[in-house]
Amino acid sequence: MAGDMSRAIIHVDMDAFYASVELLDDPGLSGQAVIVGGLGPRGVVATANYEARVYGVHSALPMSQARRLCPQARFIRPRMARYRELSVSVFSVFREFTPRVEGLSLDEAFLDVTGSLKLFGGQQAIGRQLKEQILARTGLMASVGMAHNKFLAKLASDSQKPDGFVFVQPGEVHAFLDPMPINRLWGVGKRTAPRLKALGILTIGQLRRSDISAVRTVLGNRAEHFQRLSRGEDEREVQVLRPDKSISNEITFDTDLLDRTELLAELLRQSENVSRRLRAQELMASTVVVKIRDANFHTVTRSGSMRACSNITRTLYRMARAQFGSWRDKHRTTPVRLLGMGVSGLEPENAEGKARGDQLDSRSEQSLDRVFDRINQRYGDAKIVHGLALRRRKDS
Ligand SMILES: [Mg+2]
Repeated sequence: MAGDMSRAIIHVDMDAFYASVELLDDPGLSGQAVIVGGLGPRGVVATANYEARVYGVHSALPMSQARRLCPQARFIRPRMARYRELSVSVFSVFREFTPRVEGLSLDEAFLDVTGSLKLFGGQQAIGRQLKEQILARTGLMASVGMAHNKFLAKLASDSQKPDGFVFVQPGEVHAFLDPMPINRLWGVGKRTAPRLKALGILTIGQLRRSDISAVRTVLGNRAEHFQRLSRGEDEREVQVLRPDKSISNEITFDTDLLDRTELLAELLRQSENVSRRLRAQELMASTVVVKIRDANFHTVTRSGSMRACSNITRTLYRMARAQFGSWRDKHRTTPVRLLGMGVSGLEPENAEGKARGDQLDSRSEQSLDRVFDRINQRYGDAKIVHGLALRRRKDS
């Protein structure tokens, strides 16, 4: 079966989003290489504009390497609040064409426009209008990929960046996919690709035409799945929901608490709980909220936003402690009846370039490293290697 071709799926991806916003807000940067990311000794590149990419600078590259490759670039710390503001405008454009929007990050989404084709004059007409409306309202450029499934739409939007506009018709699927290297297939990672290459399978077309039993020797029971992808078949639905807008917890004490150390210990426990739930859902948060109710049932909340998102216990706890402290300094003798801690401003962990708060703050990363070091000393390197390997498996 060749898969359902009756759907109309569009993938929209803003071009070099963070860097483009910086250029938008500071026209003096125009024509220059612009690199946005953590500027500390352990920072990484979140986004580089196309002028910088020419020098080999790309997302997730250590900033120290980016500085060597492109020393003349302008280096800028991310301004997440501003990116989120523009993201809201971009997503409001999406929702004018369909309610079926699956956001992947601040600047990227799948749209199922099957039900809107008649209203707006067809899939390519919608793609054009999306680009035009985004540009008109934000001054930013988007690349658009159109096809009958998510897999093809995503590859289509990637294939002609920046300012891309690519429609893959059902009859063109093989011509579009066949020349691409196999690592463009979702799930073919750094470990699988060399093993396929050893079989002489370097392109998606070669995988499509390969004998399934040979492919099985490398991919096992995933062989059929990857061969379906190589034929351009992908049945996954556009998932409209991102269920959690915030994650929080709170506790009412049996007896009101006054002791600062005990209160901070509770705050740390809650930060651990919240950050663990974030990591389990592969989310990060930018805002930390602390809720305090005193013995007289008077409730206050204190919130603070971080420069970039994080799901690291230490980073979230430090923010929560600061919020709590700002209240405690003015209410030193007030017993606390209820204490809560939560996060909002959630976004996927793999949002553009992973501009993580902890990478912007070298101190917390270093202290995390010290924890790793201690575990390694105690148990040998295998523990940490094992953990990193698991994490990579999740990424690929
Ligand atoms: Mg993008």
